[in-house]
Amino acid sequence: AADPRLQAISDAIRVVPHFPKPGIMFNDITALLLRPAVFKDAVDMFVERYRGMRIAAVAGIEARGFIFGPAIALAIGAKFIPLRKPKKLPVAFTNLKGEVISETYILEYGTDCLEMHVGATEPGERVVVVDDLVATGGTLCAAIKLLERAGADVVECACLIGLPKYKNFYKLNGKPVYILVESR
Ligand code: AMP
Repeated sequence: AADPRLQAISDAIRVVPHFPKPGIMFNDITALLLRPAVFKDAVDMFVERYRGMRIAAVAGIEARGFIFGPAIALAIGAKFIPLRKPKKLPVAFTNLKGEVISETYILEYGTDCLEMHVGATEPGERVVVVDDLVATGGTLCAAIKLLERAGADVVECACLIGLPKYKNFYKLNGKPVYILVESR
């Protein structure tokens, strides 16, 4: 039987038609954040999955991966790696570990980019990538590539929400994507 927490999580996600542009069904997680018991259930479900899997780092995607990622990281005793939008991370030339690497990826309209510090992860470290939602998977693919360039072993991607029309793409760069609920 399905975990009873999943229904409450699904119900707490507000679907807003035509935001931020016509035709997009925006899945808004801010209403879920206002319900501490449901917010906690969502974090707990990821913690229960990743605790005991020897995860060294949780990498969160700016911005909504920054809401869930740190809570999961702290609970499983892992470090948190922010994967940031361009030009936010300082290049720290004290040693090569402060170098910033980027991955550009294609969106429906135009391109976007994620950046990380090379030295945020050690070669072979087991990493989970966290975001709020997977649509085409382009963002998660860029995150996986970045982490692998830095030497990480990406175990899985974790999202609260998956858009069902993209179900076939839920295996990204050979990595599984774990989702809690499908978008309504
Ligand atoms: P994609 O790269 O196509 O998988 O898009 C995923 C990224 O875009 C995530 O960071 C989401 O927060 C955001 N996103 C894409 N589509 C939606 C949507 N319908 N509702 C909310 N966020 C979305």
